[in-house]
Amino acid sequence: RLPIERRSTRSTCCYCGVGCGVLIHGARDAQGHERITGVEGDPQHPANFGRLCSKGRTLADSARSLHGRVLQPELRRQRGEPRRPVDWGLALDTVAERLSGIVERHGPDAVAFYISGQLLTEDYYVFNKLAKGLLGTNNIDTNSRLCMSSAVTGYKLAFGADGPPTCYEDLEHAKTVLFAGSNAAYAHPVLFRRLEDAKARDPGVRWIVIDPRRTDTAAMADLHLPIQPGTDVALFNGMLHHLIWEGLLDQRFIDAHTTGFAELKQLLREYTPRMSAEICGIPANDLVTAAEWFGRSPAALSLYCMGLNQSAHGTDKNLALIHLHLATGQVGRPGAGPFSLTGQPNAMGGREVGGMATMLAAHREITDDAHRAEVEALWTLAPGTLSPKPGLAAVELFDAVRAGKVKAVWIACTNPVHSMPDIGQVREALQRAEYVIVQDAFADTDTVPYADALLPAATWGEKDGTVTNSERRISRVRAAVAAPGQAKPDWWIVREVARRIEARLAAPGAAPLFAADAPAAIFDEHRALTVGRDLDIGGLDHARLDDDGPQQWPFPADAAQGQARRYGDGVFATADGRARFHVTPYRPVAEQTSARFPLRLLTGRLRDQWHGMSRTGRVPALFAHSPEPGLRMHPDDAARRGLKAGELMRIVSKRGELVLPLELSDEVLSGTVFAAMHWSGQYLSSGGINEVSQPAVDARSRQPELKHAAVRVEKA
Ligand code: SF4
Repeated sequence: RLPIERRSTRSTCCYCGVGCGVLIHGARDAQGHERITGVEGDPQHPANFGRLCSKGRTLADSARSLHGRVLQPELRRQRGEPRRPVDWGLALDTVAERLSGIVERHGPDAVAFYISGQLLTEDYYVFNKLAKGLLGTNNIDTNSRLCMSSAVTGYKLAFGADGPPTCYEDLEHAKTVLFAGSNAAYAHPVLFRRLEDAKARDPGVRWIVIDPRRTDTAAMADLHLPIQPGTDVALFNGMLHHLIWEGLLDQRFIDAHTTGFAELKQLLREYTPRMSAEICGIPANDLVTAAEWFGRSPAALSLYCMGLNQSAHGTDKNLALIHLHLATGQVGRPGAGPFSLTGQPNAMGGREVGGMATMLAAHREITDDAHRAEVEALWTLAPGTLSPKPGLAAVELFDAVRAGKVKAVWIACTNPVHSMPDIGQVREALQRAEYVIVQDAFADTDTVPYADALLPAATWGEKDGTVTNSERRISRVRAAVAAPGQAKPDWWIVREVARRIEARLAAPGAAPLFAADAPAAIFDEHRALTVGRDLDIGGLDHARLDDDGPQQWPFPADAAQGQARRYGDGVFATADGRARFHVTPYRPVAEQTSARFPLRLLTGRLRDQWHGMSRTGRVPALFAHSPEPGLRMHPDDAARRGLKAGELMRIVSKRGELVLPLELSDEVLSGTVFAAMHWSGQYLSSGGINEVSQPAVDARSRQPELKHAAVRVEKA
């Protein structure tokens, strides 16, 4: 028998924004072959203390499989030809040449990047520097636009800076927990277990769940408000009206720490509980009960997610919820505050490095002259190099590709032909693009067929860097095994292309922009940009994270530890230190039902699957809970239409159609139907639920209304 060397590597789960710590167990045989043998929860990680959900527990199964991996770079000379394997040198030279050629001919905004909240912070940083610092375009957006951008805009407008004021310990301190558009039992299971434990310890803790569906989270609520889709603002306005009427405000807090309440109060006069409840389709008494529980609670915590964010009015939904906290002084103290739960593992880290079309590094603004000058100085760029024009956000980015304004798009670690709204338009865009680069670990996504250049990326278990979870905690991600074939870390691929473009485009004598040659050095660059900012991490580097474990930001150079809660002193990140109320009138969903499209389609997650199933779809055990796709309909609606469970249904919207088997469930309200977002073209004859979804975006956050569309359902 050959000797086997065993070892454990501390890392972080690659799925949701809870950011659970894991121990990856691996083995290497005498011939040097490495493999991951198991994964367990890290008992020392403060997010999960050893717990994992079904997805985390099966990480080893998904990581072991090489089936469907991209193992070598591939190029094609022209459309219609198959891609052929090439070596890295040719692939990198070709990508650099095509991108710089397009920039030379059409200008920097003819190029765009569409990246991912699943990239590590270091990957994100290098992509952002290539786009904004070297090429001079802000056309770099990410799938976090589909996930968190309304939460970002809400925080910035209300508090003056992005990022939640709360931490996971608040889950244990809260006396009233308000879930808004969050099925945490499925989407953030380990946090949900912490909440369940807290409630078991103190039965006086009350849960209010606002969700049109009776989800597993709602089924455990003390009060479930099954509101009509998209009516959240009317509900929050009605609750605040009641709090004002009953004198349940913290007037001292409002006077000392906020502005804008008088204007909002004026608007709220018309939002009586009765009128608001009527809009929401719930009993007025239930709305009043929710307001009373919230307003009289010693510590009210709200947890919110895609139900608020994925909306054409997502920013207003976030603001109207934050108003409840500001008006009652429920922020900045244990167990209280508005807590956006991040969908992806590193949506927060991407925001920190400014890796989106509408922001600059370290929460700076693209349109702010002083902010651009600061970044130019730190990146040693000539003054005026950074573009003052905000880039194209996800939906408009692919629209611009389709219109021929953007000629080349580089897509990394994401599958827009599955996850974007109205994917028929995305397919058309990629067909029309002059050049499409896809950088991914997996070859079987719906986007890969459109790639002119396919670049093999290392994935979880094979790469090194950091991620930031929902409570602003930065954790290390570490490689346990070598990447297979010729796969490389994302930062390395981007840096190699960037260096080649730099050699061609940069001014003679300019300092090299991409000198950092390891994740730790890239993190150091990122850290330098944060100093003096609200997310200052001047006191952190990889070595300290290795020695002391995961840390929350801010963590300035002179700090002994990170800051668990923000705004505890009542000083917010606005110019005058005061939080802002905004006027938030209720507006209906972007697409109303009609005689042709009489049903409201809602989308959401399954318990055991993740996004487009590139990874969870490789683990048979994860299909046990929900073995196949389906469309859920209320039994009364099905009976009225003469439909039976199991029949194949064609779901049709103004944009497209797909076929799913019918499931009957009284979890959904009559008049609504529900389908999971996960199933893609690998499992269906079409591309999944986004064949029919709605591309209307929130004007401020530019996040699309993926949660709701008007559809009709007919027998297939
Ligand atoms: Fe991973 Fe999220 Fe599950 Fe934790 S809760 S194990 S981070 S998927």
